[in-house]
Formats: sequence, C-alpha cells, structure tokens
Amino acid sequence: MNDMEYSLKQNQMIKYQLKRRDIKDEKVLKAFEKVPRHEFVGSFYKNVAYEDHPLAIEEGQTISQPYIVALMSEMLDIKPSHKVLEVGTGSGYQAAILAQLAKKVFTIETREPLYHKAKRTLANLGIDNVTFVHGDGKEGMPAEAPFDKIMVTAATQKIPEPLLDQLKVGGHMIIPIGSRLNQELTLVTKRDNQNCKRERIVLCRFLPLI
Ligand code: SAH
Repeated sequence: MNDMEYSLKQNQMIKYQLKRRDIKDEKVLKAFEKVPRHEFVGSFYKNVAYEDHPLAIEEGQTISQPYIVALMSEMLDIKPSHKVLEVGTGSGYQAAILAQLAKKVFTIETREPLYHKAKRTLANLGIDNVTFVHGDGKEGMPAEAPFDKIMVTAATQKIPEPLLDQLKVGGHMIIPIGSRLNQELTLVTKRDNQNCKRERIVLCRFLPLI
C-alpha cells in the first residue's frame, strides 16, 4: 500500500471504529490522525494495521485494538500539562498516542527487544517527548513520580502498590484487572493516600503483566 492508501484506511478507522462507537474527545481523535499505526507492525501486518483488532508484534506480544487504545486514552482525560506513565511499551503505539496528549510520557517495557524497537520507531517518527525505560513496570518510576495519569497495558490480579503510590492525589490510573482470560478495564481515581475509587469500564483481554 502507498501513503495515500494508508491514510484512507486510517481515516476509515477513526470514523467507523472510534467516532461511531463512543470516542468523542477531539484531542484523542486528532492523536489518531497524527500517528501512523502501520509503522508499529512488521511488514506482514502493515496491510491490516488499521483493522478492528489487536495485532501481533515481536516476543509473542500484541498492540491493542484501536478502539481500546482510544478508550483508555479518553478515560484518562489527559491535559497538555500532564506527565503520564505507561507500563508495557510493546510496540510504542499507545505511547505515541499519549505523546500527542501529554507534555511528557514515561514508558516502561520489560522485554528488551521491544524496548529497543519502540524507541527507534518513535525516534523515526520525530516524537521527542517520550522517555523509554527497560525494566519492571510494577515498580513504576520513583525518580519521576508523581504522575498525573498512569496507564497499564498488561493485565494483573492486583494493582501494583508502587504505581498507586506514584499517582498524584486526584489522578487517574487505567488498568486491566483480572485473571488471564477474564479482565475488567478499570478506572482508578486516587482520592487521597488511603482511598481509591474503582470504576469498571468494559470487559477486556490483555496479555499478563509479568
Ligand atoms: N501498549 C503496547 C501494547 C502492550 S502489550 C502497544 O501500544 O503496543 C503488553 C506489554 O507489556 C508487552 O510488551 C509486555 O512485554 C509488557 N510487560 C509485561 N509485563 C511487564 C512488566 N512487568 N513491566 C513492563 N512491561 C511489561
């Protein structure tokens, strides 16, 4: 496919998969216009990069379905002044979307080949407000805390305590909580240092946080 064909697919994705469902935030929709999803997958998947499903990347991992990336981004209600932490860089696609919405994004990946590749992909796209870290995202990034918003893109039974500690009071975290096959995308609001509100958004299926 050539650039024009990709951008046609991209516009259709935004129209039919995002706007026709419930994605309304103009800033989120704009972010999807700016980031070419086909640059985040291997050559074998470029033709299907804008379709309505997750895509395989290296190391047996996946990029989420476009709608889920959009929904998670919208739920966080990111402002241009915000500092955002993402756990599970994967391909870097979600980080690239967050980079359009926030002032600064920090993203952690435990699988080294993915860390290197995502870093290269964003550099090639000229996205320069994302810091990549190779490590265990369950520990968060204490040196950069607190964060206005945190997004976890791998599933866990229990919210890692350090991530809650590193979230600002009044801040939000979006995280899939549950077993391997049965999870609920959950929006957590940190009320104060002892209390969180949890809202279930939708059923989902992410790969596990390790
Ligand atoms: N957000 C990604 C998709 C995430 S897939 C994208 O847009 O492409 C989940 C990712 O979480 C995988 O890359 C996996 O390696 C990573 N992961 C799993 N456990 C982790 C951990 N403890 N710390 C950091 N990353 C982790």
